[in-house]
Amino acid sequence: MMGPGPSDVDPRVLRAMSTPLVGHLDPDFLQIMNETQQLLRFVMQTQNRFTIAVSGTGSAGMETCLCNIIEEGDEVVVCVNGVFGERMSDIVERCRGKLTRVEAPWGNIIEPEQVAEALKGRKVKAVAIVHAETSTGIHQPLEEISKIVHDHGALFVVDAVTSLGGTKVALDEWGIDVCYSGTQKCLSCPPGLAPVSFNDRAMDMLRNRKQKVQSWYFDMSMVERYWGEERAYHHTAPISMIYALHEALRIIQEEGLVPRFERHRRNHEALKAGLAALGIEYLPQEGYRLPMLNAVGIPNGVEDAKVRKRLLNDFGIEIGGGLGKFKGKAWRIGLMGYSCTERNVLLFLAALEEILHGEGLKIKPGFGVAAAEETYAKAKASSE
Ligand SMILES: *Cc1c(COP(=O)(O)O)cnc(C)c1O
Repeated sequence: MMGPGPSDVDPRVLRAMSTPLVGHLDPDFLQIMNETQQLLRFVMQTQNRFTIAVSGTGSAGMETCLCNIIEEGDEVVVCVNGVFGERMSDIVERCRGKLTRVEAPWGNIIEPEQVAEALKGRKVKAVAIVHAETSTGIHQPLEEISKIVHDHGALFVVDAVTSLGGTKVALDEWGIDVCYSGTQKCLSCPPGLAPVSFNDRAMDMLRNRKQKVQSWYFDMSMVERYWGEERAYHHTAPISMIYALHEALRIIQEEGLVPRFERHRRNHEALKAGLAALGIEYLPQEGYRLPMLNAVGIPNGVEDAKVRKRLLNDFGIEIGGGLGKFKGKAWRIGLMGYSCTERNVLLFLAALEEILHGEGLKIKPGFGVAAAEETYAKAKASSE
């Protein structure tokens, strides 16, 4: 699977999922929960006590983070340059927050000055932004914006659904107050859980709310009592999914964060070289391209659906089409977690060359693969 998620899952994770069930208050299960929290802190690079996995996919994480922070009438700034910024805006309005959108064209980053401008003369409670915008392939820098948000006294809320486990996400170092992710992108675990982390400042804000959290299921002040010392029943934990996440995080710990990020970068560089040799161009702004999600333009005269169908049927490779404004205009090639391998890059390029050649495109078969191989060879030579 080389699309925008889900990604392939290590067989170890699938085996962990078939472990017999125990009760959600069984001491052995509580031990696995504790270890999962510890591993999540490691991957999210944080000491936050409240670091848990919400029952639900990445969007459940998004909803959790926003609805626990926002009360009716709160001013919230959302940065929008793709589908997931749009989704956050929608949730803010459903929470009855007063929404201000900071927008950039699709394929561009949000500039720090834009955020500073939006905060001027206002009392804003939270600023939300997407770190890895999966609809456009943009890698959003966060540190400068974090500083601006904190100088204003607001909370910094970050979507790390696609970035976590594939590139650096450092909550404490970058001053991220509230963060959510999802299991099925670079963590390479099936869809079903949303890691979230709130720092003490965000938890204090939650405890001092005037109104109850709009959602019963996602009210973290109650869910906290299950993940914390009290172990008070709230809803039945998705036991098998926690087994899966626990194993997926152990695999990440064994590989190490830096080697893992380096692997994503290396395969992205090789893919990029291969695509360039075929005349295929990236859509996001230069210098801000995600390693795990390669958004590229569809060559002129080529039928989007037909190519993707052949990739899937003849080669067993799934890539993503464009989403939202990029529908019919983009291919989204994922290199996430377990799927991010030299084997997949070379196989994909060979298959794509074959198909595009068959479509009558003037490309020289073999050029894409050769360019990628050269990139790998250079990387190997420089690391020896
Ligand atoms: C995939 C994704 C989500 C939503 O996750 P689901 O698991 O589909 O609910 C949110 N934000 C970003 C950036 C994503 O890539």
